[in-house]
Amino acid sequence: MTQRQLFLNHIAQTTPAPLMLEIARAKGVFMFDTEGKQYIDLISGISVSNVGHCHPKVVEAIQKQSETFMHLMVYGEYIYSPQVLLAQELLTILPATLDNFYFTNSGTEATEGALKLAKRSTGRHEIISFHNAYHGSTAGALSIMGSETYKMNYRPLIPGNSLIHYNNESELEKITTQTAAVVVEMVQAEAGIIPGNMAFIQKMKEQCEAVGALLIVDEIQTGCGRTGCFFAFEHYGIVPDILLIGKGFGGGMPIAAFIANKEFMTQLSHNPILGHLSTFGGNAVCCAAALATIKVIKDEISMTDVEAKGAYLQEKLELKGYKKIRRKGLMMSIDFESQEKNFEAIAAFIKKGIITDWFLFNTHCLRICPPLNISYEELDWALEKF
Ligand code: PMP
Repeated sequence: MTQRQLFLNHIAQTTPAPLMLEIARAKGVFMFDTEGKQYIDLISGISVSNVGHCHPKVVEAIQKQSETFMHLMVYGEYIYSPQVLLAQELLTILPATLDNFYFTNSGTEATEGALKLAKRSTGRHEIISFHNAYHGSTAGALSIMGSETYKMNYRPLIPGNSLIHYNNESELEKITTQTAAVVVEMVQAEAGIIPGNMAFIQKMKEQCEAVGALLIVDEIQTGCGRTGCFFAFEHYGIVPDILLIGKGFGGGMPIAAFIANKEFMTQLSHNPILGHLSTFGGNAVCCAAALATIKVIKDEISMTDVEAKGAYLQEKLELKGYKKIRRKGLMMSIDFESQEKNFEAIAAFIKKGIITDWFLFNTHCLRICPPLNISYEELDWALEKF
């Protein structure tokens, strides 16, 4: 059987028409298929490869750690050097109140952990989230997802959650003393790149404070430099009570985290003990990769450049006639007149060696989220083909 047949017969399919690109290797912003064709990756494996594919410092950290040890014991029992050094590094880029880290394997697990922590900390159970928000696909995250289409086949889900409309200040009064937490993205990603309005985000934070609800900010997609700040909440001058990170955090390795104040997080350690468990969360190799990734972002990627490259790309695309663009940093969406036209464009671009994509809740919008260290020459290489 060919690899294509093995893929179709034995790998779980999530669409009736998978892209079926057979990538043999990837380096920097480029991927190469088994026939040697070169593709420029303008989506970073959905906002993961922020430092490009196979960044040498990340590869070196993975190699070194995998020769030392990979797995020793489940979460939180042993002191792992890569884990504590990663925590120490994160402290240098986070507000002082976000000082305690629970590392998970994926973004959705970070969401799950945060929801448990919010319920435990407040003694309340209502979670408020937003229409067109995506926080993961496991049961808790699915229960707060802002799309009925994706939820309807899986009911009953976790009860007691409410959806409100993003960027609508009048909806904020629905955050009450019953609310355990509000889960929000600073830029709604899967909605097709909808940045939060300044007044809306700030009022939401005020309302949470006024009623004693926690603000959980999901930066799984917006974090690690994607929007031109290390974390997108920095654009808004607010500090989350719980922060979710993932995707680009591991430089290509599976690691995410929910982050809170030590005082909150300590609740997972008693009554009962082992209040949240993970066998692989905080895996030593993944932590070593994340530590190297954070250092690369700090040392090699200027946040001013991220915004400048985003603006350059937008300007050049507008000159080419792509008029309806929404953008924050290097996170961009182009509106097409229909899903059909968008899918046609994505397929045509792949033929030309450009990888773009659509958005889960906005299928007529085209996604562009290249590695943050893409050069102007590489941007021009892609632009020429658009
Ligand atoms: N939150 C956001 C904003 C996301 O974009 C995603 C992934 N697309 C997730 C959570 C879930 O992360 P994961 O796929 O790693 O579970």
